[in-house]
Amino acid sequence: MTAINIALPPRPVDASVDHRIQEIVAGSSTGDTCNTDLAAGPWDFDARPGYGPGSSMGDVIPTGSPRQGELPAEYREASEAELDARIRSAKATLGDRVVVLGHFYQREEVIVHADYVGDSFQLANAALEHPDAEAIVFCGVHFMAETADLLSRPEQAVILPNLAAGCSMADMASIDEVEECWEQLGELYGDLDTPDADGLVPVIPVTYMNSSAAIKGFVGRHRGIVCTSSNARTVLEWAFARGRRVLFFPDQHLGRNTAKAMGVPLEQMPMWNPRRALGGSDAQTLADARVILWHGFCSVHRRFTVDQIEKARAEHPGVHVIVHPECPMEVVDAADAAGSTDVIRKAIMAATEPTTFAIGTEINLVQRLAAQHPQHEIFCLDPVVCPCSTMYRIHPGYLAWVLEALVAGQVLNRITVPEDVAGPARIALERMLAAKP
Ligand code: SF4
Repeated sequence: MTAINIALPPRPVDASVDHRIQEIVAGSSTGDTCNTDLAAGPWDFDARPGYGPGSSMGDVIPTGSPRQGELPAEYREASEAELDARIRSAKATLGDRVVVLGHFYQREEVIVHADYVGDSFQLANAALEHPDAEAIVFCGVHFMAETADLLSRPEQAVILPNLAAGCSMADMASIDEVEECWEQLGELYGDLDTPDADGLVPVIPVTYMNSSAAIKGFVGRHRGIVCTSSNARTVLEWAFARGRRVLFFPDQHLGRNTAKAMGVPLEQMPMWNPRRALGGSDAQTLADARVILWHGFCSVHRRFTVDQIEKARAEHPGVHVIVHPECPMEVVDAADAAGSTDVIRKAIMAATEPTTFAIGTEINLVQRLAAQHPQHEIFCLDPVVCPCSTMYRIHPGYLAWVLEALVAGQVLNRITVPEDVAGPARIALERMLAAKP
């Protein structure tokens, strides 16, 4: 018999990271995952201490972090198809009474039910388009639900389907640690509220959107501002027009990458480690500082390395490497481009010729982009499948549970920011919106 080579159409990429993990754990697919416990439902590890399997599993979870009570058995034991049908049915019953928001890093089984998909700030703004919705179900993490609560109407309930979906990076800057740092800086620089002869105060606090409402409130009370990964440069320019220096938290990498691109020398960007006296720095270094970087990081983006980029370039000549600015500086420097999730998506959408992309951001977004753009080859720089530990907590079982409760007239897992925090936090957000490039 003569062998005939038939060019088969490319196999469509399954956008589900959950399926991929299940296959790896079952041995039906090659590949590696950072923790085989990811194949279990989150309810198996919700009660355990720590962030659970995934990128943040090595991080220390703060005492008193919100825990999720046990999900009722009917949701834990339901099949993927049953949960899908129940979510669709509950959403159809609720109609315009509910809006479901899905973060880019959310698992595919949840994203298919989202009315909007985007980054945290895009989603909080999307909720504004539904002022009459009684409930905003935020399929993301805790600080995102807080931001949606800050921007939504008081009578709207913002719901986080799994209360254990925090963010290890946001948790790295607690309000007590930031207040303590501020006090030490006051002792060093003098009155932090009085501008000098040039109209500049000694330091302006800038917080990344990925921080608690309490931190956003702190920033609002101290002449500071919020930034996103899309507008960090504009916000730093705003801050330098008002202060001698910036205290940037919680993500050191976004702060360093942004300030470096603006020409701030690395030696003028000391780190502030809240567990050490003067943040582990000395008075002269802090006096000379332009940007004081909080000792925080995202455990998803810290996994990306220069070695991975070199391997991608060796194995895929012509590959275009795009990474998120939460990646370490060396990784950003070695990439072809760095930008927010939105920048990454738009770069792929703008490619008119079939292109190979190696992406340094959370695997759920990368795998979805690969499925949506089969004309391109798109892969994650990190070969190990290791989703964000906390985003992964939003399983469809929790989504079905909160939606069916709403149908029954019950609001579960409501996230509310106290008004004394919400007022100044909104001011910090408004400053960001008003900041112009
Ligand atoms: S990807 Fe990083 S910053 Fe985003 S929620 Fe997960 S741990 Fe937090």
